Amino acid sequence: MALIHLFRKCNQRCVFCSYPEEGGAEAGAALGSWLREIAAMPPGLVQLSGGEPLLAGADNLCLLLAAVKKLGRKAELQTNALAAADLPPADLARLARALNAAGGYFNVNFPASTPALDYKITRARGGFNKRLAGVKKLVEAGACVRLTHVVSSLNYRQLPAFAAFAAKNLKGISWLQFSYIKGIGRADGSRFLPAYRLVAPYLRKALDVCAAAGLRCEVDHIPPCFLGDYAALNVDMVKMRDGLKGPHLEEKKKVPGCRGCRFARLCPGPRKDYIAVHKTL
Ligand code: SF4
Repeated sequence: MALIHLFRKCNQRCVFCSYPEEGGAEAGAALGSWLREIAAMPPGLVQLSGGEPLLAGADNLCLLLAAVKKLGRKAELQTNALAAADLPPADLARLARALNAAGGYFNVNFPASTPALDYKITRARGGFNKRLAGVKKLVEAGACVRLTHVVSSLNYRQLPAFAAFAAKNLKGISWLQFSYIKGIGRADGSRFLPAYRLVAPYLRKALDVCAAAGLRCEVDHIPPCFLGDYAALNVDMVKMRDGLKGPHLEEKKKVPGCRGCRFARLCPGPRKDYIAVHKTL
């Protein structure tokens, strides 16, 4: 897996962005440097990220996706989908075609099921309705769409409501990932990281809702010991079973509470930034 940040600019200011706009050097914001970076990447999925990658424009993105395909790699285009609502249908259609040709998918960060909560998290006025319209347009354009719902202290109590919302209003998405917030960037060491034990009952209810609706789901950054009957939905279990290398091995570490755990062979432990805040599981 290889990640490229096209640039820092974004049309949202999420309170827990892991790659915030302020501070640090701007990534090389030019097609030539992006192409060189992609050509030099280690094997695996190529994740096009930002900032907001759709702000690079359909022409640039189609060229990048064609380069990914030429290298025989698969692509993930990470987006908040706001700009998709404004893209002309012809641009959306060729973007979807280029992504499909690279065996890829849009990974849409969709953080809330109401406009008020969406605004509290993203600080983008009108973002909720635009995102909803954007995702629908991506699906209509024939793209494969994954939703990522970042679980934080701001939204974990609404997880079952979000699952019901997605099942009802976002038909046509390929799958939904519940991903626990990373304690980096603007969320470094922050109050946005709820304890796993508080999140778990809401998350399991949300997974019940998805199962009843036939909506495919997965879970990242919440260990299997908190998922009850849904432990197998934890994405690390497959990576560990298959012996894959990746960030899960560097970002996570077992703690004394893991001793004797039945998942020990298939779980790398909790995130290190979670332990820095909560000290234990
Ligand atoms: S190894 Fe640790 S974090 Fe992972 S499931 Fe077991 S107790 Fe939980």
